[in-house]
Amino acid sequence: MTTAITDLSISEVNKLISSLGAPSYRAKQLLSWVYQRLVISFDEMTDLPVSFRQKLAEQTKLYTLTLVHEVSAKDGTVKVLFSLDDGKTVEAALMRSLANDGKHRYTVCISTQVGCPIGCPFCATGQQGFERNLTPGEIIDQVLYFARQLQGRSNGREGERISNLVFMGMGEPLANYDAFWRAIQILNSPDGFGLSARSMTISTTGLLPQIKRLSREKLQVGLAISLHASDNTLRNKLVPVNKKYPLEELIPTCRDYFEKTGRRVSFEYVLFEGINDSLSQAQSLAELIHGLNCHVNLISANSTTNQTFRPSPRDKVLAFQKELQNRGINCTLRQSRGQEIDAGCGQLRSRFASDKSRQPKR
Ligand code: SAH
Ligand code: SF4
Repeated sequence: MTTAITDLSISEVNKLISSLGAPSYRAKQLLSWVYQRLVISFDEMTDLPVSFRQKLAEQTKLYTLTLVHEVSAKDGTVKVLFSLDDGKTVEAALMRSLANDGKHRYTVCISTQVGCPIGCPFCATGQQGFERNLTPGEIIDQVLYFARQLQGRSNGREGERISNLVFMGMGEPLANYDAFWRAIQILNSPDGFGLSARSMTISTTGLLPQIKRLSREKLQVGLAISLHASDNTLRNKLVPVNKKYPLEELIPTCRDYFEKTGRRVSFEYVLFEGINDSLSQAQSLAELIHGLNCHVNLISANSTTNQTFRPSPRDKVLAFQKELQNRGINCTLRQSRGQEIDAGCGQLRSRFASDKSRQPKR
């Protein structure tokens, strides 16, 4: 099988170049074409000799994803479904927000696995089961797809670039640690995509050994924990991996993570009507994380086909937030984005699973 350039680490690209008998500075040129100028064909690499480009094209490829479907919402969210070489599909999204300086910020949300092994009952991806891990190239190519889209839109203007990257698409990033971390290193490297580690956030259900490993890494990416419940009985149901890594172990691990890295952890809490949105649950959440340097993101649920998990009504969400704030908890409300285009995790893919007539296009 042909190797994708984006599957290679920077040092592997250097090795490839020397194995092809080219001088070492060609590696930097190639990387710049792939990650900065974002080309999708070797023909565009005009400062590389034609014979060298031919050799590269015989042995390597420039992308691993084929576009199956793309939808845009009024709020600027773009959601895409890609197919992989083996025909499996994954989702990614681009979200736009307006910053205080009046300029747009772009956040890309990407997947790390096909399906997910955790199986949260409220999540469309969780309901699809687990198929396989993504390779580093398949993870990176989602980012490059949107980087190209923004580059095309920018028309020479500055600022139309990816400002943040969140690992909040399909899959549990820490269950695919090696590929996910390799992707982060290449995306961060100044010889690669050059996005600062602080602009990247990973979301996890709380795989403790991997969180410990993450705290020892040099690059300081942001860490978000999908909490959704403040007691083990409920969390065992909502986030089944809690049975293996219960709250009394998760919270101290988050404390250690902060002490080792100096980086504040965020907790994601999706509010479901009548399940985890009562005032007493807000109180017990405040007690659980009391004294921890952290931030809580309250998220209104995306409705999926599972009617058990309905979004909490607005007044309940606001009351929950107020209760946390009164107890000194740092807390913000995050709106669901792109509702009308199935922008929730795994939703687009679910819809397509029942509509096999659509054919991929590049
Ligand atoms: N698997 C990882 C990261 C991907 S999911 C994790 O669970 O953390 C990213 C976020 O989307 C998680 O916080 C997850 O709980 C949330 N999510 C999943 N289904 C949702 C839904 N129907 N409505 C709102 N948020 C949802
Ligand atoms: Fe997996 Fe996250 Fe969905 Fe749970 S919420 S099933 S961990 S993708």
